[in-house]
Amino acid sequence: MIQAPRGTFDILPESAAQRKVVEQQTEKILGAAGYRRIETPTFEATELFARGVGEATDIVQKEMYTFDDGGGRSLTLRPEGTAPVCRAYLEHGMHKLAQPVKLWYLSSFFRAEAPQRGRYRQFWQVGAEAIGSAAPETDAELIVLLADLLQALGVKGTRLRLSSLGTPATRAEYREELKVYLRAHADELAEDVRKRIELNPLRAFDADDRGTRAVMRDAPTLLDRLDDHDAEHFARVRALLDDAGIRYELDPTLVRGLDYYTRTVWEFTSEELGAQSGVGGGGRYDGLIELLDGPPTPGVGWAAGVERMLLSARDVVPPAELVDLYVATAKPDGTRAAFELARDARRAGLQAQLELAGRSLKGQLKHADRLRARFVAIVDNGHVALKDMASGEQRELTAPDVIPAILREGRIGG
Ligand code: AMP
Repeated sequence: MIQAPRGTFDILPESAAQRKVVEQQTEKILGAAGYRRIETPTFEATELFARGVGEATDIVQKEMYTFDDGGGRSLTLRPEGTAPVCRAYLEHGMHKLAQPVKLWYLSSFFRAEAPQRGRYRQFWQVGAEAIGSAAPETDAELIVLLADLLQALGVKGTRLRLSSLGTPATRAEYREELKVYLRAHADELAEDVRKRIELNPLRAFDADDRGTRAVMRDAPTLLDRLDDHDAEHFARVRALLDDAGIRYELDPTLVRGLDYYTRTVWEFTSEELGAQSGVGGGGRYDGLIELLDGPPTPGVGWAAGVERMLLSARDVVPPAELVDLYVATAKPDGTRAAFELARDARRAGLQAQLELAGRSLKGQLKHADRLRARFVAIVDNGHVALKDMASGEQRELTAPDVIPAILREGRIGG
């Protein structure tokens, strides 16, 4: 039997109904703040991600699904949404619109990662981007909106970690300073940390051996090295979050997987999730549009994983599907009239289903009950018996009277 590729999954109807709730909540919460939906193509020029995500990142180094389109162009299934949205911003001249341009998306993304619970090779993200504003209010607004979405969906056990990465120049200087510090304490560090001092000194903050942790307690942090402008920006973001009652932990070791972040970065985790605990995160990317050959343009945004939100909000209950009318047939010769009645009912705005499996009348009534249909119409030679499934009451009607009768009831029952 052919199966779906490893790390991918089917979205079955139950799950589709839950995802619809995610979509509706996103639309409501982001729409209320003036964010409008955008969808970009599933694949893009590979160069967009090489430049926009960063050559040195894990994503570009080893996680992209890249292919030749047969005409010598290298294309890549999108591994993330920010670079494509910024590409679209430039391509459609959105810098000429009133700024910031506020956009959201709900799309699937592709990364060649080792699959496990909460980590897939095709997964869905909702994301929001505000391009064209350097105001700290934008960062804070986006964080509040993500917190609101997680809360509306009932995502449990969330924590918010917050930091600032300053500018790339500050970051580069700080890296050197940290290397010097680590080299000076090399003999107190775990071996794997020591080996990675030159390549990835920040990893030392994640080590869990006692020696390294003792050294890292006194290590310089990037937050202490921010320049005045970045420190001021960060202080304002924090004050706004404090006012909004959003709780966060400062985490100077928070590094996001993408190269383009500047200033504010954040991540929500959920303790329901186990190893892959990140539900959603984002940050400011003031240099990204320029990297894509645009004019200097600040931007900030986030993305949250749909599967992880649903995993940690196990009780996202989609509204029950309503079946207003089940059209049953007493005899085979009633099928044309039944087909017509179901079609007319749908055109009148009702959810109507037709018997399609050749069940006996008894079987049809049982099936209608399983579907929790409000009414069953039993069509028999131009006559219709309309049965109210809640009260059991049954009336004889002519076919044209059936839909008005249900609509009248619908109004009474709400
Ligand atoms: P990132 O673009 O890496 O910041 O990811 C943003 C969010 O997308 C994460 O917090 C996860 O919820 C989700 N996510 C990232 N990678 C995967 C994946 N491979 N499978 C499922 N969800 C993912």
